[in-house]
Amino acid sequence: MNLPHSTTHRQDGEAAELMVLIAAPRGFCAGVDRAIRIVELALQKYGAPVYVRHEIVHNRYVVDALKAKGAIFVESLDRVPDGVPVVFSAHGVPKAVPAKAEMRGLDYIDATCPLVSKVHRQAERAHEAGRHIVFVGHAGHPEVIGTLGQLPDGAMTLVESVDDVANLSPPDPDMLSFLTQTTLSVDDTRDIVAALQHRFPAISGPRGEDICYATSNRQEAVKAIAGECDRLIVIGAPNSSNSLRLVEVAERMGTPAHLVQRGIDIDPEWLADIGTLGITAGASAPETLVREVIDTVAKHRPIVEQVVVTAEENMIFKLPRGLEPAAA
Ligand code: SF4
Repeated sequence: MNLPHSTTHRQDGEAAELMVLIAAPRGFCAGVDRAIRIVELALQKYGAPVYVRHEIVHNRYVVDALKAKGAIFVESLDRVPDGVPVVFSAHGVPKAVPAKAEMRGLDYIDATCPLVSKVHRQAERAHEAGRHIVFVGHAGHPEVIGTLGQLPDGAMTLVESVDDVANLSPPDPDMLSFLTQTTLSVDDTRDIVAALQHRFPAISGPRGEDICYATSNRQEAVKAIAGECDRLIVIGAPNSSNSLRLVEVAERMGTPAHLVQRGIDIDPEWLADIGTLGITAGASAPETLVREVIDTVAKHRPIVEQVVVTAEENMIFKLPRGLEPAAA
C-alpha cells in the first residue's frame, strides 16, 4: 500500500477532522475512456446527431454530457432513423444487432470494450471446438445479453451462483468450457469456478477467469482500505455491475457501504460519529464526481484526504479504424 499524499481542509473551532481514504485505482477504466472518446469522435466526424444504442457506459453524468453534445441514446436499433450513424455501447451487443444494422445499411461503430470482445472470441472458439459453454454472469446485464448473443440459442448456459452449478445438466460433461462476465466479484467468481471444476473436472476455461484488470484492481483497492474505514462511499450508478461489486466487497469486510451517483446523495448522518471514511468510484464514474463527493463531505466535516494506491494502471485501448483523432 502506498500513501503518496494527504490534504487537510480545516477551519478553527470546527468539529473533529474526518480522515478520508481515497482508493486508487478508482473510476474510469481504459474501456470506458475509449467508449466515450468514440462517441465524441463520431460526433466530430459525422456531426450531430449520433445515435448510441444503450447508455454508452452506465453513468448518468457521462450520458447527459454526451447528450448535450448531440448524442441520442436509444435502447433499440428500431429507434435509429435511416442514414445516421449509431454507436454500440462498451458492454457489447448480440451478433444480431450489427447484422440488423448492416441489413438496414446503417453506419455503425462498435465501442465494445476489447476485453469484452475477447470473451466473445473465446466463446466462438469453444463453440467451434464442439464445447458447451457455462457462462458465469448476472442475468439481464447488457454484457451478459451481448455475450450470450454471440452464439446460437442453447450453446451457452448462464450460471449466477454456486447453487446454480449443482443444477447444471450439460449435454456432455467432458466437452465443457466456462467463461465469465468481466465485472464480477473476484471472490464469488473464484467460488463458482471452483464448484464448476469440482463437478466437471474436464471443464476448460481461461486461466483464473475473465474478470478484467479494472474490476479486480478496484476491488483490491477497496479491500486495502475497507478495514480502516468506518464507512465507505462508492460513486457509481445503480445499474453499474462493477460499482455494485465494490459495495459488496466493503460490506463483506464488515464496513457499511453506500452507492451514490452525486454529492447530493450523501446523507449527513453517514458522516456523524465516524473517524475514517473511504471513497472509491466504479469504472464508469468520472473523476469530477469523485471530487464533487469529497467536496460535499468537506461541507459537513473538516477532512484530511489521503490517497491509498494499490496498483498503477497504464492501459490504453486503440480506437476503431477510421475514427482516430486528427493530428494536431
Ligand atoms: S470495466 Fe473492464 S471490461 Fe468493462 S469497460 Fe472497463 S476495462 Fe472494459
